[in-house]
Amino acid sequence: MPLCYRQEVATPVNISPVTLHFHGWLTTLIQRVRRSNGLVTPALNRRTSIKDLIESFGVPHTEVGSIKINGQTVSFAHIIEEESAVEIFPSQPPVNVLNSCPLRPKPLDAIRFLVDANVGKLAGKLRMAGFDTLYDPQWHDPQLAEIAEKSQCILLSRDIQLLKWKKIEFGHFVRETLPIKQLAEVIHFYDLSHAIRPFSRCMRCNGILAPVQKLDILDQLEPLTRKYYHTFLRCSACRQIYWAGTHHEPMQKALNELSHYRPLSY
Ligand SMILES: [Zn+2]
Repeated sequence: MPLCYRQEVATPVNISPVTLHFHGWLTTLIQRVRRSNGLVTPALNRRTSIKDLIESFGVPHTEVGSIKINGQTVSFAHIIEEESAVEIFPSQPPVNVLNSCPLRPKPLDAIRFLVDANVGKLAGKLRMAGFDTLYDPQWHDPQLAEIAEKSQCILLSRDIQLLKWKKIEFGHFVRETLPIKQLAEVIHFYDLSHAIRPFSRCMRCNGILAPVQKLDILDQLEPLTRKYYHTFLRCSACRQIYWAGTHHEPMQKALNELSHYRPLSY
């Protein structure tokens, strides 16, 4: 059930009461905040944007798909100035970040992910499926926000506070906890099953894999690998070598998971 909060405005600037109506799974985010610290900012005593108002209730802007005020679709920059009935809807799959929408008028020009350390194993899974994925466990919040903005990435994280950063325009709160289910969640959320390209990227560094002649790498192969495998790929960046024995089984597991995945509700 959607939650509805009525805010009484203690106002030096004539702002009338505002009703916020959160829909779908956004209600879970609000409940999370209420359980953790009981803080629900109750009053508007200054002019504020709808984005700031929503985030004051614990909901990151990245999770919001559309906003209506008194029935009209608005952008994040809309200023609450008068009595308003605000409806906030979650981003819902299929989300296409390559198309513009009122909340994100400048779409991305390509699908590229940036993975937070709290879902670090997801990075390898995404690369295994062939998706361009930036990841370094040493990156902290300021660096992640900077990279998300400059490299035009979708940030994947389980950190609510990080997803509120202004520089992070595209992001997704990862709800599944198992990496293989997280991969299925992301592929379903962004409708990317058609874009899966197994064995095209290096799981270690995100470099592009290219075929390499066995003769050229013989001295780098263990005896059993040399004996039983004949087709190899090599990372163009870090030179890591891949063959069927290293990847086929985990990739098959991931594909099976995708085919049986029961999508979350939003
Ligand atoms: Zn590599």
